[in-house]
Order: sequence, then C-alpha cells, then structure tokens
Amino acid sequence: MNPALTLGRNEEELISYDPATGAEVGRIQIDSPGDVRAVLARSRQAFGMWKTTSFSERRRLVMKAREAILAEIDGIAKLISSESGKPFGEAIAMEIAPVLDLMQYFARNGEKMLRPAKIGIGLYALLGRTSKIVYHPLGVVAIIPAWNYPFSIPLGEAVMSVMAGNTVVIKPSELTPMTGLKIGEIFAKAGLPQDVVQIVTGAGETGAALVEAAPDKIMFTGSVATGKKISAAAARNLTSVVLELGGKDPMIVFEDANLELAAGAAVWGAFCNSGQSCSSVERLYVQESVADRLTKMIVEKTRELKQGPGDLEDVSIGAMSSERQMQIVEDHVEAFREAGAKIEIGGKRNAEIPLRSAGGDRERNFRRPLFYQPTVISGATNDMRAMREETFGPTLPIATFKTEEEAITLANDSEFGLTASVWTRDYSKGRRVAERIEAGSVCVNEVLYTHGIGQTPWGGFKNSGRGRTHGHAGLMELVQPQHMHVNRIAILPDAWWMPYSPVAVETFRGFAKYFASGSLRKTAILLPQLQKRIRELLKGKEDGTRS
Ligand code: NAD
Repeated sequence: MNPALTLGRNEEELISYDPATGAEVGRIQIDSPGDVRAVLARSRQAFGMWKTTSFSERRRLVMKAREAILAEIDGIAKLISSESGKPFGEAIAMEIAPVLDLMQYFARNGEKMLRPAKIGIGLYALLGRTSKIVYHPLGVVAIIPAWNYPFSIPLGEAVMSVMAGNTVVIKPSELTPMTGLKIGEIFAKAGLPQDVVQIVTGAGETGAALVEAAPDKIMFTGSVATGKKISAAAARNLTSVVLELGGKDPMIVFEDANLELAAGAAVWGAFCNSGQSCSSVERLYVQESVADRLTKMIVEKTRELKQGPGDLEDVSIGAMSSERQMQIVEDHVEAFREAGAKIEIGGKRNAEIPLRSAGGDRERNFRRPLFYQPTVISGATNDMRAMREETFGPTLPIATFKTEEEAITLANDSEFGLTASVWTRDYSKGRRVAERIEAGSVCVNEVLYTHGIGQTPWGGFKNSGRGRTHGHAGLMELVQPQHMHVNRIAILPDAWWMPYSPVAVETFRGFAKYFASGSLRKTAILLPQLQKRIRELLKGKEDGTRS
C-alpha cells in the first residue's frame, strides 16, 4: 500500500509524511510497552522533585517555553503544516497564538487559582471549626491527543499539568509525531528539569501501553471508539480519564441574523483545517425564508477559496490529514447524493493541485495528494446518515427549519454535544435558544473558536466527552483537592462521640431537627440539650479518671 496515504511504519519506526506532497517529514522509533513503562517510572521519580517546586519557578519555566516558541514560530508553523496539511497561517492563528495565550494565562494565574481556599461551613463555624481546600498535584498525567491540533492541544494540557505540579508523558498521534517531539524539545530548551515532560512515540499500541502503565490521570482527545477502549482499560487501574471526543456541531441561522456575517462564519467554521476540527460546523440549520439567500452567499464565498499545499500563504484550504479521513468524506458526500441532497459546489477530490516533487531519495510512491474540495450541500435532512455521523472534512450540509422550537429540536437530535452556534440580531432570543442546546460550548453570533480561549472550560455533553480541559474546571481535573478541617477550640469533646446514651440520642434528635435546619434561631433551642450532653461526656471522663 502507498505509505504516503496511510500511517507510515515498519517494525521499529514511525514515518511521518506530508499529506500535501507525500514527502517524508521525519521518522522516529516506536516505543515498546517496556520503553513506555520505563518512561512512566522516570516520570514518577521526577514528580517527587517537581511537586516541591515553587509556583514562581514553574511560571518562569513556562514563560521561557513561550519565548522558545516565539523564537522559532515560523519553523514550528511549517512543521505543523507539513505534518497535518493545514495552511501555515492557520497553524499560527489556530494553534500557536491560542496556546501562547493559554501559557501566559496559566503561568501568571496558576498560583492564584490553586491557592488554598476557605470554605463556608455554616453553623459548624460556631463550634470553632474552619475548613479550607488545599490542592495537591496528581502525579503523572498521560496526554494522548489526536492529530488535528497536534501542537496546541497536547502543549496546552501539558502546561496546565506542570503548573499544577504534575509530571507529563505525551503520546502524540502517529500522524503527527514530529510535532509531538517538538513539544518536548521546547520544554528542554526552556530548561525544564529532565523527565518532567517526556514524549513516547507510536500508534495505538503505544497509547494502550501508556494507559496500562497506570498513570495518575489520562487526558485523551480522539474518537468515541478509542475513548471507550481507553475508559475500559483505565478502569482496571481506577485511573481517571478526561475524554475530549467527536462532534457534529450545529449552526442555527435565524432570518433576522446578519446573513453576510453568518455566511462568512459558516465557511470558516466548516472549512478551516479542512473541516478536521472537533468543533467544525457539520450541520447548518437556516430559517426557511432566508435559506436560498444564505446558501447562495456561502457558495459564492466558497468559490473564492484557494486550495493547495499549506506552505503557500494565500492558501485557505490545505490537504486532509490521511487517506482514511478522505474516504470518510467521500462516503458521506456520496451518502448525501444518494439521499437526494444537492451538491452546490465541490463534491470530489481536488485533482487539479499540481503535485510537487517530494525530492531526493526520500521521495515516496505518492500517487495523489489528499485534497478534497470544500463542499456545500443543500437539501440535507436529519434522517440522512451523513447528518448523524461525524464527517471531519470540508463539507457543509444545509438544512432548513420553520420555527425556533424546530431549530432547537433539530440541533439537539444528535448523539454528540460539543459546540453549537446561534445567529440572530435578537440577543435575548440568542441566549434563550443557546441555553436549550445540549452542548458544552454554545456561541451566539460566533463560531468554532472557543477552544482558543484557554480561560474557559472546554468539553462536551453526551458522546462528545467527559470532564473538561481549559479554564478553572480544566485545572481542577489536574489536582486532587484536600479538605483541611481545623477545630480551633479543641477543649471539649464532641457531642457525637462515644459513649452513647439516652441523653446522646436526644441530642442527636435535636441536631436533626434544629442544627440541620441551618437556622441559627432554631439551633439556639438546642443549646441546653447540648450542654447537658457535654456535661455527661465530661462526667464520664472524670468517673473514668477516678476509677
Ligand atoms: P483516534 O481515536 O483514532 O486517536 C486518538 C489518539 O489515540 C491517537 O494518539 C492514537 O494513537 C491513540 N490511540 C488509538 N488507539 C488507542 C488505544 N487503544 N489506547 C490508547 N491510545 C490509543 O482519533 P483521531 O483520528 O486521532 O482524532 C479524530 C477524533 O478526535 C475526531 O473524532 C475528533 O472530533 C476528535 N477530537 C476531539 C477534540 C475535542 O476537544 N473534543 C479535539 C480534537 C479532536
């Protein structure tokens, strides 16, 4: 089989190819399960030291890693582009810039976000008690990402992990291993101590070995099928897992929306990264009265897009990442055709892009580049198979609705719930509809980009995932909270201690009736009974001392 069209590997090596040209980007050894276990053991060893470092030291190193990225920003963008097929500019806009922002945010705010926090404990405070939460790191965090944002997703999760005091092992996707290695290189350049962030390379088996090696947390990004396998394997060691899975994200456009803006958003939301974003617009629902106008605008905007190798700066749509992904897109477009939907533009591989030589003795038997034309489809309905399965390609199927209620029902009619967007000039309607959409992030008059806001939680409803990355909620996934409870006036026994007695039982009844009401006024009724009980306990103690 043509190695450029699939994962390139032999017994010991993983070979990374540029999907736009077939050129080899690099090759790297496949780590065996034994190698992975050794890496994990070193990571655990390093954790003992790393968890004691100060926040200011962690901040300094993460900020140095930012500088290392900025120093070679074009080289990194080129590497991302060559391994994934996405345009060079998009690698900067959608991967490097957002992760740099995330890095400065968690470097500067990590300490404040993880500062011990006092908790209100209601009437227990009257007994002289205080409670606070102290956040402890977990240990070794395993990060297993997909190939579509091979730099920003694992790097962002690694930064959050190390700021919280964890060590990290990343297993990059087999399609983008060189970008994964680059992340390790950046931390090394920044001076991060050895073994705090390590990279293991290989395909699914290497990922499975990492799960088997029992890290303390798994941050997984990928398909629902693999997410289920990882959850099952992780359960054997009770390892907790955050799952960032697929999407079939809806965009709802009401007739009062700014159609020009909505059309531009739909084109970008559906076609950036060749539609290979988990939060891509995969279903567009437009109100019937403006459906023709909006479709026409979208088709016109699509016609203007240049497709080609990602290193050209005026290219908007690059190559697909793999032949496997390409075939899913072909299958779905065919399914739309057969079901009676209309292909307005696109609908096939783009064979017109001149094939560049991969060059030298590394040239592979590369037959055709992996470009699929951006494709707009009208007349789609929810009973079509391709409106239900994740496509993950440059397709934009358009369906219509009549009423607000129908739009909500259609949008929620999916096993997925990652992101969604609502377009209207009526902001109260926008918020009303957004609140009823079953998705982890919902935008009003915006689309797709919220993964780029590291300050906000990211994750899915339904089969789109479990747990969160980013924001405060994401940071909480990477720590274990310890409740520290202090009795500041430890001079009397607690009324609920042993030995029990009829007086004790009467006091417990009072607790249930008065204290547990949360009302100070009611609890005051309990005071005489409480005093009686404490006297009883103290007397018992005295008796015990005497005898
Ligand atoms: P995938 O599930 O095939 O692979 C993801 C990762 O898991 C890869 O690194 C792979 O090597 C590894 N892996 C495979 N089998 C494994 C196993 N048994 N044990 C451990 N690791 C294993 O997914 P993909 O094709 O790389 O990514 C595409 C999917 O990712 C899409 O569904 C997309 O929506 C999703 N995604 C989701 C988000 C999100 O934030 N929700 C972001 C990006 C991508």
